[in-house]
Amino acid sequence: MALIVQKYGGSSVADPERIRRVAQRVVKTRKAGHQVVVVVSALGDTTDNLLDLAAQVSKNPPERELDMLLSTGEQVSAALLAMAIGSHGMKAISLNGPQVGIVTDRAHTQARIQAVNVDRIHRALSKGTIVIVTGFQGMTPDQEITTLGRGGSDLTAVALAKALSAKICEIYTDVEGVYTADPRIVPNARKLPTISYDEMLELASLGAQVMQARSMEMAKKYEVPLHVRSSFSRRTGTIISKEVKAMEEVVVSGVSLQKDEAKVTICDVPDRPGIAATIFTRISDVNINVDMIVQNISRTGFTDVSFTVGRLQLGKALKVARRVAAEVKAGRVAHDEGVAKVSVVGLGMRSRSGIAAKMFQALAKESVNIDMISTSEIKISCIIRKDQAARAVKALHDAFGLDKLGVRRKR
Ligand code: ASP
Ligand code: MG
Repeated sequence: MALIVQKYGGSSVADPERIRRVAQRVVKTRKAGHQVVVVVSALGDTTDNLLDLAAQVSKNPPERELDMLLSTGEQVSAALLAMAIGSHGMKAISLNGPQVGIVTDRAHTQARIQAVNVDRIHRALSKGTIVIVTGFQGMTPDQEITTLGRGGSDLTAVALAKALSAKICEIYTDVEGVYTADPRIVPNARKLPTISYDEMLELASLGAQVMQARSMEMAKKYEVPLHVRSSFSRRTGTIISKEVKAMEEVVVSGVSLQKDEAKVTICDVPDRPGIAATIFTRISDVNINVDMIVQNISRTGFTDVSFTVGRLQLGKALKVARRVAAEVKAGRVAHDEGVAKVSVVGLGMRSRSGIAAKMFQALAKESVNIDMISTSEIKISCIIRKDQAARAVKALHDAFGLDKLGVRRKR
């Protein structure tokens, strides 16, 4: 007998039929003798629809009220799933974030989990009850409801798996696992049987929409074993675990694409100590996350500084950039929304050379121009034109032989 945490995403519980199917799977796991804690997302597009409603009644909805609103979505799916399981003659109880005792900080809509109280869950499990927990939410020490950022049900699942010392945290979704690339772009993308936390962390933050990046950080920190798999099939998916030696054999395990990037350039910036510090302090002061930064070599005492931000933050970034350009006596501020970021990720890069060259050659062969480059130990990213992005991803997938890695996709 093991304790298993299962998390079902929005598409897995999108309608009553699917909820009944999830109930069957949960019941089966319970009947196999395991203790089961289930974490659910809101039905289908519920969260988007709720955000939409908010936008229709207020231009600037207070974040506290947004959390009151958004947290209702998961309560619906949790209660429905508990009922569906109950109709199999099994004991099940749904609990929301506050009822469980998921304590967070006060950062509404982006709250961080500070503590998880598992007493009530343990009590229910010991009576043979299946526990359904609403994903994506918690409560501050002063009883305010908070949400954990988009995709936050993953974080709830990982936090519970850790607090309960679960044997495995299964993440059920509508794809069969983690792929070498987005199968919608690269039809011969392969399912990876295993991947390390570090690679998955890079892929998550690079826009491979499999798991919330924050949940990956927590999984890595506490070494929570994860199994990403489909709720529509019985096949095993991808195991995400800490690094083992064999993983280093693979130079590149995935190509990812981030389309929601925008580039900002501050022209003719005086080339003096302290200027970059001023620029990026002003930007971080307004909570803008800068991704890549490139500064050209100056020949005349002036240089251009470019950086990328998420497209949603472009408006805010431009405002600050213009202000700080005036402050440091730089020139004009330009921007470009037609960019995308392609990245290759792999543990094996650490011990092998020539990977960047191979990436650039593959892009050159497709006449894809590289605008900016950044690297980390296990990742190389290039900013390119958005309309060339799909071509670039395919070319890189081919160049690194990813169609021969992992498991062929069943269609
Ligand atoms: N329902 C929330 C969202 O759509 C949380 C989640 O699904 O993980 O972001
Ligand atoms: Mg998700």
